[in-house]
Amino acid sequence: MDLPRIFTVRESSHRIHNPFTPGKLADLGRALHLAPGTRVLDLASGSGEMLCTWARDHQVTGTGVDISTVFTEKARARAAELGVADRVSFVHGDASGHVADEPVDLAACVGATWIGSGVAGTVDLLARSLRPGGLMLIGEPYWRREVPDEDTAKACHATGKDDFLLLPELIERFGGLGYDVVEMVLADQDSWDRYQAAQWLSMRRWLDAHPEDELASEVRAELTTEPARYTRYQREYLGWGVFALMAR
Ligand code: SAH
Repeated sequence: MDLPRIFTVRESSHRIHNPFTPGKLADLGRALHLAPGTRVLDLASGSGEMLCTWARDHQVTGTGVDISTVFTEKARARAAELGVADRVSFVHGDASGHVADEPVDLAACVGATWIGSGVAGTVDLLARSLRPGGLMLIGEPYWRREVPDEDTAKACHATGKDDFLLLPELIERFGGLGYDVVEMVLADQDSWDRYQAAQWLSMRRWLDAHPEDELASEVRAELTTEPARYTRYQREYLGWGVFALMAR
C-alpha cells in the first residue's frame, strides 16, 4: 500500500502537494481563527505542511493520515524541524474509512476527495470524526469557466466535464449537503504554477540523475508534453480552492 512512485518523482521538492503557496496556506490558517489546542484530523495529509505550520503558528494539535510512505516520512521530519513533533503525528495508512477515536474540532481533506468517492462521500467521512459545531475543510477543483468539450476536460486530467462543477455550483453543492460555506481560499494561476511548473524541474533533475530507471521513459514523455498541456488547458480551465464548512 503506497502512492505510485511517479508522484514522488514529480513532487519530490514540494512541501504542499496542491495549488496553494505557503502564503495561501497561511492565509487560510489565519482566516479560520483557530484557537490554541484546536484538534485537527487531516486525511491525505501529504508532507504535513498544513498541520506542521498551523501547529507552529496557531498551536493546533492533531493527526495526519496518508498512504505515501515517502510523504509521511517528510511530514515527520518537517514536524521535528518546526519543533512541533509533540503536537502533531503522522500515520501511514489508507484514509478512506478513517475515523478519529475522539471527535476533533477540525476535520480536513485537502486535495484528495477520491478517498470518499467524491465530495459528498468525503463530507460524510469527515463528519464521522467531527464534533458538533466543528469545522470541515475540503480542498477541491472546480471549472474556472465552462469547458467546451469532453476532450478539454480530459486534457485537464478529469475523466469528463462532470467530474467538477463551476465555482458557484460547487458552493451550492456544499449547501445541498447541509453545510454552510463559512470561508474559502482559492488558488490562482500563479499558485497553480507553483504546484505544476515546479514539477518540471524536479522531473528533469531526476531524469538526469536516473537515466536507467524503469520510470525514465514515462518521466521523459511526460516532461516533453506536460508544460504545453498544462498551459493550454489546465491553467485556463481548472480552479482549486479550500472550502471551510459548518453543518447547518
Ligand atoms: N493534503 C496534502 C496532500 C494532497 S495530494 C497537501 O495539500 O499537501 C494527495 C495526497 O493524497 C497524497 O499525499 C497521497 O499520498 C494521498 N492519498 C492518496 N490516496 C490516499 C488514500 N487512500 N489514503 C490516504 N492518503 C491518500
